[in-house]
This record gives sequence, structure tokens and C-alpha cells, in this order.
Amino acid sequence: MAKNELNKLAQEITQGQYKIQGKGTFKEEFVTCGGVDLKEIDFKTMASKRCSGLYFAGEILDIDGITGGFNFQSAWTTAWLAGNAIANSFPATARTV
Ligand SMILES: Cc1cc2nc3c(=O)[nH]c(=O)nc-3n(C[C@H](O)[C@H](O)[C@H](O)COP(=O)(O)OP(=O)(O)OC[C@H]3O[C@@H](n4cnc5c(N)ncnc54)[C@H](O)[C@@H]3O)c2cc1C
Repeated sequence: MAKNELNKLAQEITQGQYKIQGKGTFKEEFVTCGGVDLKEIDFKTMASKRCSGLYFAGEILDIDGITGGFNFQSAWTTAWLAGNAIANSFPATARTV
């Protein structure tokens, strides 16, 4: 990714502003609708298919579950997958604690 694209992405992630359009599918506002398109994600690692070395987890993804723990579970599971994939992307010698 070019440096100017990386800067743009960092700026969007840290300072992006979004307009709320209305209520979500389940009419309860516990979770945001929209986010990173799931077609752009490798679900085995949560890595972006568009940007090497970029991983996503939780509510930033376009996942919008009914309340009752599904959104928590989605956040925890995607974070676990991404965390493991990031750790495994380093050589084994760099992973010793
Ligand atoms: C009132 C309410 C009730 C809910 N009840 C339920 C429920 O019963 N069951 C359920 O499954 N889900 C529920 N949810 C949804 C659930 O809480 C979220 O889907 C889940 O917590 C998302 O996890 P996350 O880690 O992606 O994001 P978050 O938990 O929002 O964590 C994001 C973190 O990033 C930090 N952050 C933000 N910007 C920056 C920045 N620029 N730099 C550094 N840090 C930053 C924030 O401070 C925050 O700590 C509820 C949500 C709300 C608001």
C-alpha cells in the first residue's frame, strides 16, 4: 500500500465521521450496521483481502447480530482469529514469551 493511501486509511480509522441513517435490522441500537464488507475478509485469519497485513475484528465489520450475546461472540471470535493469525505471521522464534 502506498504511503499516502496508508495515511488516508489511518486518518479515516482514527478521525472518520459517519452519519446515522436510521434504525438497524432488529430495531434495537446495540450494535452498528455496516462496516468493512465481509467479502473483503478472509474468515480463517480475519485478514483484509485488499491490504496485506491488515486485520479486522468486532464491530468494525459488517456484522449486525440480534441482541443476546451474538455481537459479543462475534467480537471475541473474530479477535481470537485475528490475534492468532497476527501472532502466527511472525517467525516462531519471535513468539517465545
Ligand atoms: C448499550 C449496549 C448494549 C449492548 N448489549 C449487547 C448484548 O447484550 N449482547 C451483545 O452481544 N452485544 C451487545 N452490545 C454490542 C457489543 O457491546 C459490541 O458489538 C461489542 O462490544 C463490539 O466489540 P468491539 O471490540 O468491536 O468494539 P468496542 O467494544 O466498542 O471496543 C472498541 C474499543 O476501541 C476504543 N477506541 C475507539 N477509537 C479508538 C482510537 N482511535 N484509538 C484507540 N482506541 C479506540 C474504544 O474506546 C473501545 O474501547 C451492546 C452494545 C451497547 C452499546
